[in-house]
Amino acid sequence: MNPSKKIFNASKQNRPALEISGRSACGRMCDYCPQSEYNLSYKKIDSENSKLTLSQVIKIQKKIPIDTVIHWTGFVEPLELKDFSLICSFLHEKGYSQLLGTTLTGYKENINFLFDNFNIFDAGISLHLPDDEGLMKGKFDEQYSDNVNKLLRSIKVDSSSIHVSIALIGETFHRNILSVVEQYKHDFSITKTRALSTRSGLIDIKKFGYKDSKKVNKITGPYYCSIQRLNQGVLLPNGLVSICCQDFGLKNILGSLQDSTLEQLYLRIEQDSLLSGKFMAGEMEPCIHCEYYLPFAINNSFYKKIVRYIPDFVKDYVNKYRNKTAI
Ligand code: SF4
Ligand code: SF4
Repeated sequence: MNPSKKIFNASKQNRPALEISGRSACGRMCDYCPQSEYNLSYKKIDSENSKLTLSQVIKIQKKIPIDTVIHWTGFVEPLELKDFSLICSFLHEKGYSQLLGTTLTGYKENINFLFDNFNIFDAGISLHLPDDEGLMKGKFDEQYSDNVNKLLRSIKVDSSSIHVSIALIGETFHRNILSVVEQYKHDFSITKTRALSTRSGLIDIKKFGYKDSKKVNKITGPYYCSIQRLNQGVLLPNGLVSICCQDFGLKNILGSLQDSTLEQLYLRIEQDSLLSGKFMAGEMEPCIHCEYYLPFAINNSFYKKIVRYIPDFVKDYVNKYRNKTAI
């Protein structure tokens, strides 16, 4: 196989995905999120189209292959998008598999929609719940706790096959939801994050007391995306698609779904000799600041074959740089 083909195949998942960032800003502004960077960068690109609408999605839907998994994650809280329920119902009718990552904050209508329609998210629901140190921003009162309880109870009672995971960034869950989480701890998986991604160098992980994944400098390229994001771009409110969810500064826009198909966008770097050379040389933005941009040698089959003979301290060193974070 052509060596560059190998690099690009290793940088992509078997099934393409598309994340949706339905708004130009997230109202939460959590401490560990480079939200203002996203907001400012988007405004520079487009000061008019700040919200994704159903009519826009209807226009571009045919450009998204039906086997693409839609991820409601991206750079903003999805339930803050007014057309959220309309768009996910439309995509569901068209046959797309969908995944939802949410803090369960946003429009009341969207939260109510989720109570009755969680089965739409057949690729899973990741419920990101607030901490007790105030890192996540929002109003986490009794109503919020009731909503979390209602959603988890509905999914449990339904005996749904939907995979639900509960995630926390911080030491402990917010005091108002502690008892709810306790109640469902045997029903759903709970992840307390120990390592955070830097969002391509835009946040200082050490500030939060988390593990800091530094880039590898001593091993030469070719480089690849070790979390296979080259076919998991982020759709912005105006139809543009950014390279991946680490690109809060919108440094690498692949193009627009108004003019190209998603397949064409996901081949853009690979098929352009200048861009593919830059990517493999370890010089691509925003990857250059990202801890997942690694020399391919670290993941090659030779390493896998000899791994059992390698002393633990060397493995620890390599694993440190291959560490994948939950959030
Ligand atoms: S972490 Fe999520 S909810 Fe918080 S500001 Fe960022 S996108 Fe919004
Ligand atoms: S920024 Fe990081 S996660 Fe995104 S494509 Fe580049 S290496 Fe992969």
